[in-house]
Amino acid sequence: MNCSFCQMPEGPKNKQLTADKVSICKTCAERAHEILRERKKISRTGLLVPTDMKAELDRYVIGQEEAKRTLAVAAYNHYKRLGREATELVEITKSNVLIWGPSGSGKTYLIQTLATLLDVPFVTADATTLTKAGYIGEDVESVLQLLLERADGDIKKAERGIIYIDEVDKLASNGDRKDPGGRSVQEALLKMMEDRDVKLSIGSQLQPKTVTLNTKNILFIFGGAFVDMIDSKGNKEDKVVGFLRENKTTMKKKSPGHEEFIKYGLIPEFMGRIPIIAKLNPLLKEDLRDIMTKPKNAVVKQYQALFEMDGIALIFEDNAIDYIAEQALQKKTGARGLKSIIESKMLEMMYEIPGKSEEKSLLVTLDMLVEEEMQTAN
Ligand code: ADP
Repeated sequence: MNCSFCQMPEGPKNKQLTADKVSICKTCAERAHEILRERKKISRTGLLVPTDMKAELDRYVIGQEEAKRTLAVAAYNHYKRLGREATELVEITKSNVLIWGPSGSGKTYLIQTLATLLDVPFVTADATTLTKAGYIGEDVESVLQLLLERADGDIKKAERGIIYIDEVDKLASNGDRKDPGGRSVQEALLKMMEDRDVKLSIGSQLQPKTVTLNTKNILFIFGGAFVDMIDSKGNKEDKVVGFLRENKTTMKKKSPGHEEFIKYGLIPEFMGRIPIIAKLNPLLKEDLRDIMTKPKNAVVKQYQALFEMDGIALIFEDNAIDYIAEQALQKKTGARGLKSIIESKMLEMMYEIPGKSEEKSLLVTLDMLVEEEMQTAN
């Protein structure tokens, strides 16, 4: 019988548990166990404390220690604040967050992982496609509509969600960044961050129902690369980072704060609503290696699982991993390109190997990768 979940037949390394008319294979059973374990952890503790939250983030997100710590505290305080609001006299104001750093360094991934851990609805949107209501394009309110959909129409759930708005650096309007449209989007976002009731519709198109969503408790996180950011001493930030990482004594220098972001072109009122700023560093070769191999869902582990389903043990030579990391580094797309680089390298092997019934293991060597590259070049 095939596994009722993934439809794969039973194999020597993937035994099945079968009951009346249903069956589950080892891989799916392990996955189910993981899911249940994660859910239990969230519900048992109610709120994960920041150190536990950071430890959970560590299982997925490589490096970015400072950003993980800052976000763990920000999220903890945010949801703690929601818990006490109704009874206490002192009202703690919301702490929205700005995260910044090079493209492909894990900004979206970090927030997405955080939202999953917290088990709250989550939406990402791109600042450049948002306009003030009434203009063409996606308007700011449509993001709330999407959040409500992610919460399966549950208003209470949506009102505790997280909205991540990427590319806010593109909204800057100062000096040579003169985008008046960007300024009005910042103003629209500003209103959204405050305590505001927004009318949305749910239900089918034939029977739409109007509901009111309040934005007071939605956590807003903004992201952007902020290329050419100037720090408080007038240095270009991205020029010094590589050096700083090696020379720890100069690490203590002051990262750009609110003032620098306002100079960059974000309006003061907007920055005034975002008390927390966290920086993500460019990923170095070592980080890229780790991203490929260490996280729970690392791409190498994924390929190993795929081959294991054919009874083949897949092993990557150390310098083969190095080579892939170097290639990603050259492309300057951070970790974003890793999967596609491996994918193109593995395609040939995934085509050939499963058909060769005698194969029990496969060692991916540096030579194989270089050879494959030369063949595609010809
Ligand atoms: P950004 O939002 O900074 O441009 P993303 O979060 O979209 O970058 O990163 C693209 C992909 O690269 C992610 O989906 C993830 O798979 C991987 N990735 C990026 N940074 C990291 C990291 N620090 N740790 C683990 N995976 C990462």
